[in-house]
Amino acid sequence: MQDDPIYLDHNGTTPVDERVLQATLPYLAEHFGNPSTKSVYGARARAGLDRARAQLADFLGCQPGELALTSGATESNNWVLQGVTAAHAGPKRPHLLISQIEHPSVSKTADFLERTGRAEVTRVGVDSTGRVDPESVRLALRPNTVLVSIMHSNNEVGTLQPIQAIAEAVAGKALLHTDAAQSAGKVNLDLTGIDFLSLAGHKMYAPKGIGALYIRQGRSLEPLLFGAGHEGGRRSGTEPVALAVALGEAAALCCPEEGQKLARLRDRLENGLRTALGANVQLNGHLTQRLPNTLNLSFLHTTGAELTARCPELAASTGPACHDGAVRLSHVLQAMGVSPEVGKGAVRLTLGRSTTDEQVDRALSVLVAAYQALTVVR
Ligand code: PLP
Repeated sequence: MQDDPIYLDHNGTTPVDERVLQATLPYLAEHFGNPSTKSVYGARARAGLDRARAQLADFLGCQPGELALTSGATESNNWVLQGVTAAHAGPKRPHLLISQIEHPSVSKTADFLERTGRAEVTRVGVDSTGRVDPESVRLALRPNTVLVSIMHSNNEVGTLQPIQAIAEAVAGKALLHTDAAQSAGKVNLDLTGIDFLSLAGHKMYAPKGIGALYIRQGRSLEPLLFGAGHEGGRRSGTEPVALAVALGEAAALCCPEEGQKLARLRDRLENGLRTALGANVQLNGHLTQRLPNTLNLSFLHTTGAELTARCPELAASTGPACHDGAVRLSHVLQAMGVSPEVGKGAVRLTLGRSTTDEQVDRALSVLVAAYQALTVVR
């Protein structure tokens, strides 16, 4: 809408691309059949589903049969951790290795498996930019390690992990999963050395409630959802055909040039803020190994919540939550060793497909004016 705030929260969720919407609508209307039935209705729905899976396979560079549709990255992540653990259940508890900055859909699943005595868990740390050292992964591997799960990029600070070096450290010793919910469509995904990869539709211009899990051929994974045996017996539940069509279309629309455009706009915003506010802003994350759309900055001498409250023209996300004046940093900033003084000023600005130069310039002037007003008032 005309007067809506400028949307700078694309890591939270993306709007549905108009082309995705148009491709989806027929599957909510006339092509309503159940893809598992034999009628012409079923056949039309099946054709839509098959096409979507082929588009997704093309996007990832895998076989269609290596993809299972899920309700989103939360389910994909739960499935991998629980499914691999279950496949290795036995007298010796399997060992899982994750990082300290994983999304809760990974970390809380690991906590649950540990709490219920099904798995041992190691959580490797990150450096001050949010990167996992592949050597720390190699050193943490045990004879009973069955799965390493390290996110492809972080949702809060955008840091990209050295996933190929991690894959080399893990090769032949354990399976490797990566949560690519934030990376898909923003950076190239290379499946070399990766056994499982999670995707979320609503981070790549498809609707919420659809995602996928790449399962390298031959990898053993117990189902999370049992039932009538959909998705080759791996994930039961009648397929959400329209949502799958949306995800396929969204994947087909992703292109590398978009990352370059996003990086240019993000850098324009970052450089503008640095020029105006100098040492009063500090980057959270890695300067170069970062998602092209993501800018997480700490505004010193204030809090992210105070600053964004003064910017109703913008829709952005603040890092830490403040409770009764006490600042609790996110687990990501804590793991990076960011001090509470700096971390409390964190604001996440994430750009997307429809972000324009004009919006970036407007966001810049709004943020600078709000910061100056806040810090002069003090
Ligand atoms: N993993 C990461 C890195 C995310 O950023 C998110 C969503 O914010 C998820 C997983 C969960 O995805 P979904 O909302 O599709 O369950």
